[in-house]
Amino acid sequence: MKKLFVMLAATTALAGCATTAPMPVAVAEAPQAEAAPTPIAPKSALGSFGFDQAGMDTTVLPGNNFYQFANGTWAKNTPIPADKSNFGMFTMLDDLSKERTRTIIDEAAMDPSNKIGLAYATYLDTAAIEAKGLAPIKSWLDEIDALSSNAAYASLAAKAGKRGIGGPVGFYVGQDDKNPDRYVAQMGQSGLGMPDRDYYLSVDPKIAATRAQYLTHLTNVLTLAGRPNPAARAKAILDHETAVARVSWTRTDSRDATKTYNLMSLARLRSMAPGFDFGRYLSDSGVTVTEVIVAQPTAITGIARLVSRAPVQVLKDQLVVRTLDSYASVLPAAFDKEAFAFYGTALSGTPEQEVRWKRGVGFVTGSLADDVSKIYVERFYPPETKAKADELVRNVVDAMGRRIDGLTWMAPATKARARAKLANFTTKIGYPDRWQDYSALEIRSGDALGNAIRAAEWAHQDNISKLGAPIRRWEWGMTPMTVNAYANFGMQEIVFPAAILQPPFFDPNADPAVNYGGIGAVIGHEISHHFDDQGAKYDERGRLNEWWTEADRKSFEALTKQLVAQYDAYQIFPGASVKGAFTLGENIGDLAGVTVAYDAYRHSLGQSEAPVIDGTTGDQRFYLGWAQVWRRNYREANLRQRLITDPHSPSEQRVAVVRNMDPWYSAFGAKPGETLYLAPDKRVRVW
Ligand SMILES: [Zn+2]
Repeated sequence: MKKLFVMLAATTALAGCATTAPMPVAVAEAPQAEAAPTPIAPKSALGSFGFDQAGMDTTVLPGNNFYQFANGTWAKNTPIPADKSNFGMFTMLDDLSKERTRTIIDEAAMDPSNKIGLAYATYLDTAAIEAKGLAPIKSWLDEIDALSSNAAYASLAAKAGKRGIGGPVGFYVGQDDKNPDRYVAQMGQSGLGMPDRDYYLSVDPKIAATRAQYLTHLTNVLTLAGRPNPAARAKAILDHETAVARVSWTRTDSRDATKTYNLMSLARLRSMAPGFDFGRYLSDSGVTVTEVIVAQPTAITGIARLVSRAPVQVLKDQLVVRTLDSYASVLPAAFDKEAFAFYGTALSGTPEQEVRWKRGVGFVTGSLADDVSKIYVERFYPPETKAKADELVRNVVDAMGRRIDGLTWMAPATKARARAKLANFTTKIGYPDRWQDYSALEIRSGDALGNAIRAAEWAHQDNISKLGAPIRRWEWGMTPMTVNAYANFGMQEIVFPAAILQPPFFDPNADPAVNYGGIGAVIGHEISHHFDDQGAKYDERGRLNEWWTEADRKSFEALTKQLVAQYDAYQIFPGASVKGAFTLGENIGDLAGVTVAYDAYRHSLGQSEAPVIDGTTGDQRFYLGWAQVWRRNYREANLRQRLITDPHSPSEQRVAVVRNMDPWYSAFGAKPGETLYLAPDKRVRVW
């Protein structure tokens, strides 16, 4: 479990449980095909001025469905590659990142002493992996089998956690929300093999079908591991996890910064949640602490009770399955295929697994991230991009400042502090100015599994070494190869990796309207996160702290309630809708982000009007630029999973946020009676 900064878009992890995902590195979204290492030129797909007019469907009225109007022909003509759960601009750029990264790794592989090349070659050597069978992991599986009592489980769970294998609770060291100048131990609910409690508890027949596939998966893994009576044992795991799901918090509650801030002494945690030896768990995780922040206290109490009563065999079997799934990619093919059949196909709808080399790039990029990153940015990130992006960020931040000044619902004193908060932001663009040192991480030829385990242990060690140390203001939560962006409240920062500073998000030589609608709105989105329903709880020094007046808070909540209702009304499948409260932070980010990006665009024009290009006005190209970056086709299972687990609304609904903006109506002439039309007093305006 690793918290959590708010991202621009979700990535789709393949295996493991969402609540125990380790470092949020770029995720290996599946590739298109075995491709030549020559980078594709995305700009060629985007028309002469930056917007792809050929991809529009002008038979659709923009006021009925702006997403289809802007992207309909593209959507119809763009199949999802067999090894992807979805395909759009993010996945296209992710492919480009991987192809570029492969050239770096291939060169490194010429030098046998180079860790990058060695880790990659060893990962690709599936014959060696096959020949070894389960031998490399046998001592760990034996250790699990030796568990003889529930009381000893805490120690085993801690050892699993060090290796990135999900246990009953998640643990990491992170910034203290109320005292962001220090790091503190943090703990949260965990223990599920499916991505969310809903997968265990929902009565939706589609979800129930996935649950049945999970039971099959558990049975298959236990069979492959040579365990007798696999079906009965699988059922026992599912029953145990269903009980854990019942005591687990929803994602909506789990993203509430106030509810999840529960700093307590270790003694208090022990008395609150008897049944699990938290002292032993923490010391065997490698830390000596007297206090911890517990994200979901009632869930931790429930989980401790459940693991104290569960048959020891269930705890052992669950850990065996979790181990084999977590390391499936470096185990014999039968384990790898089985993990993909559930986590790739059943949960995400992806028919085919991605080619080995792309997964190898993902592994090396995850485990030796900065060694790869520093070569990547030297080679693929032109310095002039940074200067241009800096200017855009400044313009959008200025526009946000003018918005704050103009608010009618906020008290002057609160506005002054909001202004101070904006002035204190750190903007990170491109790549970090300091790199991690992996000299302590041993990479061995012919030991793919060992390399993966040592990489996970290295990451754990690096994380816990933060306790008592100064805050790493230089640290990044994403690699420069990642097509994404994030906001981190405690750090008061907005971060834009090199790989998102490319077309169709950004091209320093393209039409400013499309740049402001693309990367400008992305920048606005990340700035606005610091003022969303959670981010706004953090003051000008990055502290979780009440800094609003009671009246300000009430006005803000009344406005955001309208936005919750607007998104709750989007039904995607029968019985499956967007969750307005769960996606609120991201929807505020989009609403305010596109609004301030538009302001910044108009401001950049000064007194003059933008030129008409190919029959479209500057305002039209701005909103079309926003619609274009969100073009994406989904497989049904992937979209269903996202409705449950992704705090971002689906692409079509993200694009539709423009229905709240007056200039969009002027630009496209949306009228009463059209699907997206909102009367002026129904348009939500927060910032
Ligand atoms: Zn976001």
